[in-house]
Amino acid sequence: MNLRNQLNFSGGPGALPETVLQQVQEAIISVPEVGLSVLGISHRSDWFAQVVTETENNMRTLLGLGKNYHVLLLQGGATQQFSMIPMTLLQGKNAPADYLHTGYWSGKSIHEAQKEGKIRILWSGEDTGFTQLPSNETLDFSADAPYLHYVSNETVEGLQFHELLGRDDVPRICDMSSDFLSRPIAADKFALIYAHAQKNIGPAGVTIVVMRDDLLDGIPTDQFAGMFNYRNHINAHSNFNTPPVFAIYVVLLVTRWLLKDIGGLNNMARINQEKAALLYTKLDQSNGFYRGRAASTDRSLMNVAFSLSTKEKEQHFLAEAASAGFSGLAGHRSMGGMRASIYNGLSLSSVEQLVDFMFDFQTRGQ
Ligand SMILES: *Cc1c(COP(=O)(O)O)cnc(C)c1O
Repeated sequence: MNLRNQLNFSGGPGALPETVLQQVQEAIISVPEVGLSVLGISHRSDWFAQVVTETENNMRTLLGLGKNYHVLLLQGGATQQFSMIPMTLLQGKNAPADYLHTGYWSGKSIHEAQKEGKIRILWSGEDTGFTQLPSNETLDFSADAPYLHYVSNETVEGLQFHELLGRDDVPRICDMSSDFLSRPIAADKFALIYAHAQKNIGPAGVTIVVMRDDLLDGIPTDQFAGMFNYRNHINAHSNFNTPPVFAIYVVLLVTRWLLKDIGGLNNMARINQEKAALLYTKLDQSNGFYRGRAASTDRSLMNVAFSLSTKEKEQHFLAEAASAGFSGLAGHRSMGGMRASIYNGLSLSSVEQLVDFMFDFQTRGQ
């Protein structure tokens, strides 16, 4: 087994582009324009202020964000947002917020929101084993909900919404942790988008929050602990306490890569579609040898979840895949089976190699 060259198909932290990793390697020793290791540069330096500004501006360009949005770089992961959002927006509200229960991660968001205020579970896929998503037109969104919350891509189950949900007169809030910057979105339709970095856009340690500036209007936040108060982070320009300088720097390099090497989110989406199509075609043409998990209309372009006919075959598959250099293909610990996560940083050629391996394994296994 060549451990130096494993391909990373893990659900997260995910693969990063090789050119980014090379720049990171150099920056660990010395950031060229500073002469210090990125691990030891002050968060109060002019250099870091520029890193934050450029990261923000790159996000604005990639997403086409208007001036009425804040871009925040926070800590605590997506999990902290599961609490911060309802804590902030449900206080003093009688009407419940609408939540969709479409899989493992939206389940976690619901669990946390219930501790903070009233929510209504508008739809749940629990009875059908989270194998499909509802369509926007079949959902009865409430007009007086403080907000609607959903997860755009259910990482564990491999389900992804391919349409915008909800009503324009109710703030839309979306956890995009596992498909952020993987495709163009109508960002101006959202009141708040959040995504941690470690699936698609960087290492763990930083979470991006894109917030429309009217979302906090009329909402008192003085009573919150400092770290849980969005206004503190807005006022401090994401430098309220020591931020994760390293993680933010890597996210900056990834946004530069998206803009300059890839050429924007339309191109990124095209590449991601091509990668996913290779894998799903392989599943569909395997005569049932490989079984895709998600309903075909709701398939994720980021996480391809599938199974084989028996647990023994699956173990055999995973063992052979690991020794052939394909890392991280085991499904989430809550679900088993297999999952190929094909985030932005994983190349088309890596997916081609996996598909070749799968074809070979099937041929030998029958
Ligand atoms: C991985 C994941 C999370 C958990 O994020 P943390 O940063 O570990 O808190 C939340 N939501 C989605 C959609 C995820 O894929």
